[in-house]
This record gives sequence, C-alpha cells and structure tokens, in this order.
Amino acid sequence: MATEEIHRQVVIIGSGPAGLTAAIYTARANLNPLLIDAPADTERQTTPGGQLMITTDVENYPGFAKGIEGPELMMEFRKQAERFGTEFLEEWINKVDLQKRPFTLHTDGKVVKAETLIIASGASAKWLGIPGEAKTPHGFGGNGVSACATCDGPLPAFRNKRLVVVGGGDTAMEEATFLTRYASRVYLVHRRDKLRASKIMQDKAFRNEKIEFLWNTQPLEIVGTHEHGVTGIRLKDTMSGEERIFDCEGVFIAIGHKPNTDLFRGQIEMDAVGYIRTNGHSTATNIPGVFACGDVQDSVYRQAVTAAGTGCMSAIDAERYLDHLPVEMPSGEEVTIEGEHITPDHRLIITAAGEVIPNEPAS
Ligand code: NAP
Repeated sequence: MATEEIHRQVVIIGSGPAGLTAAIYTARANLNPLLIDAPADTERQTTPGGQLMITTDVENYPGFAKGIEGPELMMEFRKQAERFGTEFLEEWINKVDLQKRPFTLHTDGKVVKAETLIIASGASAKWLGIPGEAKTPHGFGGNGVSACATCDGPLPAFRNKRLVVVGGGDTAMEEATFLTRYASRVYLVHRRDKLRASKIMQDKAFRNEKIEFLWNTQPLEIVGTHEHGVTGIRLKDTMSGEERIFDCEGVFIAIGHKPNTDLFRGQIEMDAVGYIRTNGHSTATNIPGVFACGDVQDSVYRQAVTAAGTGCMSAIDAERYLDHLPVEMPSGEEVTIEGEHITPDHRLIITAAGEVIPNEPAS
C-alpha cells in the first residue's frame, strides 16, 4: 500500500487544552492546521483530549462560574477548533525528523510534512516502579492497581473497599477525595510528614472523615493473588525503618506526571526530566519553526488555563515565523509572505513596491 503524504503549514501534536487552543488560533488565521493525536490506548496510556479527560469537576477554569466536567470542557475546545476548520488525524506517530524543514512525522500509513510544528503532547502519570505495580499478568495493574481514580474508581472492584492512594500533591488529594464516594475507607500514604498539595485541597481532604493519613510511609511492594487481585501493600516507616503489610483491596498511584517527549529525545533541547526547553518569554524551542506549549514544556504551573495560554502563544509564534519564511519560487528566487523577493544569489531584496535593496542586516 502506498504511503499517503500530507503537507501542512502548521501541524500540532496533542489534543489537550494547549494543542486545541493552538488549533483554534491557527485555524482562525487560515493556516489550515492538522492536529495529530494518538488514539485511546490503556497500554500506552494515551487519552485523546489529555489529562482533563480523566478529571471530574474543573472549578478553576475561568468562564465557568459553576464549574464544568473535564471531558465536557475538552469537547467544547474541540468543537471550537473544528468550527474554524482544524483537521484531525488520530494516529500514533512512530518517528519524527526535526533536523530539516519541512519537518517529517511518520505514522503507520502516512508521512506528514510540516513547515511549522507545535508540540503539545502533554504529560502522563508517573509510576513508583515497585513490584506488583506492572500490568497484569506481571503485576496487578488493571487488577487493583490504577493511576486514575476518575477512570477506575467507580468500578465494582473498588466499591466499599479499603483503598490506598499514594502521593502528597494535589493529584493525591483529588483522587483520595473522589474515591471516598465509592470506598469504605481511603488511606493516603505519603513519604513525608508534610503535604505538597495546595492548602484548599489539603483542607478538603483533612475534613473528609473517610480519609486517613499514613505519614512518613513509603510503599515497597503491592501484594495479592491473580485470582483476587490486590490484597495489600508492603509499607516502610521512613523514620523507624519498620516494614509491614497493610491490608487493602486497591492502590491508586498519584505521584505526579512526566512529559510525553520520548518521541523527540535526542532531536530537541530538553531539561534533565524531559521537559522541552522553550526560549524565554515565547514558545520557541532550539529548532526554528518548532514550538512547544502546555505541560510538555511546563514543570511549574501545569494548569489547564496556563496550557491554553501557551497554546495561544505557540499559534502566534508559528504564525509570525511563517510570515517571515522565504518560500522558493520556480525561478529560483524566494518570496516571503509580505511579498518581498530575494534573488537566487541572496544578494538583493526586491520589496513589494518594486524597490531593489541590498540583502544586508540593518545597521
Ligand atoms: P506533585 O505536586 O509533583 O506531587 C507529587 C507527590 O507525589 C509529592 O507529594 C511527592 O512527594 C510524591 N511522590 C513523588 N514521587 C514519589 C515516589 N517515588 N514515592 C512516593 N511519593 C512520591 O504532582 P501532582 O500532585 O500531580 O500535581 C502536579 C501539578 O498539578 C501541581 O501544580 C498541582 O497543583 C496541579 N494539580 C491541580 C489540581 C487541581 O487544582 N484540581 C489537581 C491535580 C493537580 P514529596 O512531596 O515528598 O516530593
């Protein structure tokens, strides 16, 4: 089967708030964006729409005084991007080449060429890396172990059960509070005696009588049987060093997220954790024409509204980049979008008004 080739001025990777905002802006600017996102896959942990698709109430997204459900908010973003003509491609990207423009992306059946690329591939849940955590049949993942309370909490396996949530940030507070709707009791296991979570989320969890805190406690292993799933978790008291098996029927890991940047490793500048580095007060990366927005480049704020904000910035950055991009004509001369021509030897510029000036930097 022949490989289909697609060529676009703007290609966006990721359909969370950042990617969809970039799509709304570039589509409104008539740049005909193509937005690529991976199909839903539990094994690969991909969720089109990003992390808001696995969130319940979003109370802090401005414009929704009564709050809105995460999936509903993302549906509205998507409809708005569609309204202005964004084209969507739901395929897994296997390989990218960012070394020369147009940048090339390879999916199973298509080769996508992009004059500018906006990376908005977001972040995924982190795992502890302890025995018993891996997916069934290697561990109890999917059989009592989860990293998403809103996805799995309502399942019969967790109803009226003793559940453990691991972590001390806002995610852990949110997951623990949510799980009290279904669990008989929720035990929040945190490795220190102080939470990282915001005060409002801490207070909500402290007020909830169904939540009990196990401080200075580090999980070592999730135990159980393949027939019954999780039966307990081996915990270590970090002060005394003492270990014990704590009985529970479900474990939710809520220790934060890591950026989805494996695809770009070795091709673009990242920090030690894997967040893409952007340049000062812009979404520009070290590769001209490649921009990054949302959680993939933000280890500090990581909010839906900041992701949407940087999505808007990346669209404007891409638009300005394209405006100044020389396009080669069949005659060999290049033309920029404002109508300036550059001669094939790059020595002269012919302005839109017909003036001929030397192609030299302004002194
Ligand atoms: P986070 O703030 O980085 O917290 C991660 C927590 O997991 C920390 O308490 C950390 O312990 C613990 N942890 C990390 N690795 C661990 C390990 N190997 N073993 C045991 N514990 C481990 O991540 P987050 O909670 O996902 O929050 C991320 C961002 O999203 C924050 O900015 C947060 O405000 C935001 N958020 C907001 C909402 C909301 O407003 N509704 C909801 C969720 C997240 P230490 O504290 O000891 O490091």
